[in-house]
Amino acid sequence: MPVQNEKVRGRFAPTPSGLLHLGNAGTALLAWLQVRSLGGTMVLRIEDLDRPRCKPEWTARSLEDMRWLGLDWDEGPDSEGPYAPYEQSKRGGLYTAALDRLERESLLYRCYCSRADLLSIANAPHGLSAEGPAYPGTCRGLSDKERAEREAGKTPSLRFALPDKPVQFEDGIAGLVHFTAGSGGDFVVKRADGIVGYQLAVVIDDMAMEITDVLRGWDLLESTPRQLLLYEALGGVPPRFAHAPLMRGPDGSRLAKRHGDIALNALRESGVSPERIVGLMGWLYGLLDLPHAVKAKDLIPAFDLSRIPKESVALPADWRRIVGLI
Ligand code: GLU
Repeated sequence: MPVQNEKVRGRFAPTPSGLLHLGNAGTALLAWLQVRSLGGTMVLRIEDLDRPRCKPEWTARSLEDMRWLGLDWDEGPDSEGPYAPYEQSKRGGLYTAALDRLERESLLYRCYCSRADLLSIANAPHGLSAEGPAYPGTCRGLSDKERAEREAGKTPSLRFALPDKPVQFEDGIAGLVHFTAGSGGDFVVKRADGIVGYQLAVVIDDMAMEITDVLRGWDLLESTPRQLLLYEALGGVPPRFAHAPLMRGPDGSRLAKRHGDIALNALRESGVSPERIVGLMGWLYGLLDLPHAVKAKDLIPAFDLSRIPKESVALPADWRRIVGLI
């Protein structure tokens, strides 16, 4: 819990690589409810570093969809704010400065592994963590001669050399989370194509924007120890973290098109009311006893991290009936 008089700052940080759907809109709703229930400042940050995957029209549509759902923000790409710009694609200078600092402190190393090398790691027994292949440190600690051999004219990526120690933290939803040393392996902070890695950018921005509370999807729980180690390396104070359960389809599988058109935009065009969607989400996340239509702001008094389930939540088979589609 925040200490009294602390200025709470939370954020929602979508990657505009697609449209908002019931799953990521649910996380946005929870992040918004947390900030509003604490009387804090809501920041909207667009994580559009991977330019080829992101489209400006998806950013615009996501903003519209969030507003339609009844969510607002105090700072973001469309409004003034003391921490502008709020699009990662415009914050390159900050990331370069952090990379230089980490490099000066010998916390990064150049990695020449090709996609094929990394794929063979993924195919090796025990090579996969839930987040992808664990990097075994092939390029870490190379002698000058070895480096010259591996380099062979290639542009390297930069990896953060994970300190060899376990990490634990108290998650606002998951509880005490413990990760063993080096889980996931040394990760990329700058790709060979020059794109800054998510882990670094998110930490730099949350630090620079003085974010105190991060509520995001469970899929990022595994990233948190890496981020905590980056905070430590950069001398930053980490925010409180809470990882919200993912939403699954009625069959328990990852939410996808086959479960019906789950894009917020499509639901809205079909005439569904935002209150019905919010009601469905509020019920799935434990804030309502029944999925009745409700405005997002009317859920603020009901918000409590302890009510949110720790397990993923499944859309009921009749979710379309619940939102009034059939
Ligand atoms: N941009 C990330 C995503 O859309 C979220 C980052 C975060 O909340 O830390 O998955």
